Amino acid sequence: MARITLDHLAHSYMPNPQGEGDFALKQIDHDWEDGGAYALLGPSGCGKTTLLNIISGLLVPSRGRILFDDQDVTPLAPEQRNIAQVFQFPVVYDTMTVAQNLAFPLANRKVEADEIARRVEKTLAMLDMTDKARRRAQGLTADEKQKISLGRGLVRYDVNAILFDEPLTVIDPHMKWQLRTQLKELHHEFGHTMIYVTHDQTEALTFADKVVVMYEGEVVQIGTPEELFDEPAHTFVGYFIGSPGMNVLPCQVAGDRLQLGTSEIPLQRRYPALEGKVEMGVRPEFVRLAASGEGLPISVTGVEDIGRFKIVRALFEGRSFDAVLPEGSPIPAEASAVIDPRRINIYKDSHLVRGEA
Ligand code: ATP
Repeated sequence: MARITLDHLAHSYMPNPQGEGDFALKQIDHDWEDGGAYALLGPSGCGKTTLLNIISGLLVPSRGRILFDDQDVTPLAPEQRNIAQVFQFPVVYDTMTVAQNLAFPLANRKVEADEIARRVEKTLAMLDMTDKARRRAQGLTADEKQKISLGRGLVRYDVNAILFDEPLTVIDPHMKWQLRTQLKELHHEFGHTMIYVTHDQTEALTFADKVVVMYEGEVVQIGTPEELFDEPAHTFVGYFIGSPGMNVLPCQVAGDRLQLGTSEIPLQRRYPALEGKVEMGVRPEFVRLAASGEGLPISVTGVEDIGRFKIVRALFEGRSFDAVLPEGSPIPAEASAVIDPRRINIYKDSHLVRGEA
């Protein structure tokens, strides 16, 4: 296991990048803790695979260095980095049995036979494949083959890190949940540094201690699921995390006053004069509805009942504005929205501004 340091790392696929926009991965500087479980989360094309491939050694970054503990591994090939990788589509040897496939990475590294048997058995149990141990991989379903791929990464215990690139894409939904839970348990038991790429927020939030949110080649926030929910560092994090995402509205801020259309809301913090694009963000969970007159004038356009909660879809000055209300909450015919001022975040050019308390 290793601490992974991303030191002034950036990557462009172009030979002579000019501006920021030419970089598939914009500069990132960060230390990822030894034994941490990280998820790289973001939409298609945001640079997740680029970053993962730099960590694994499949790609040499155009700028910066990558260190495992204090060793600079930037020039090293993947096989010299002592990492395990699990890809989106299964990598298995069809002519070998399931057990032989799992044993292969260990046998290759001259691990003793007893230890191999012990670890293969444990991995088979984890994957719920003990009864298939002696079956050839050839006849198995795509789902089962991917489980073997996953197992081949997990069976190794002495690796610097295990990297997963959307490993559950081909797995059926129920099994996905089960494997994710097992991965988390395994992480607690063995303490491997794990890096997990996904575009699915549920996968990221349930698997990771820290989620690395990427947007257009930029790492916009690294935080615990709670931090991403409470204080999104970028409006994109607000939209992307949460269901529905954070409400974001253009506004004006003067000191500790927020102006939203014709409504003024007192803030809990004081802000410096802000130039550029100024927006406020509030999660739908921190909005309640009142009879017209108390808060922001909204028009309700729909209500979705999702069991313990209701999602109220509304418009405020022509922009969508959602509220999440407990089951049974009344929805006034002429509603207005009251925002919890402690839960308002202020953004300048999409980045969070922390005011003074
Ligand atoms: P996905 O979830 O679709 O795999 P991603 O977040 O992993 O997306 P990357 O594959 O890292 O994103 O791609 C980031 C950007 O770099 C994209 O604009 C992509 O088109 C570009 N890119 C990726 N690989 C190459 C390459 N080999 N050559 C040129 N551009 C590339």
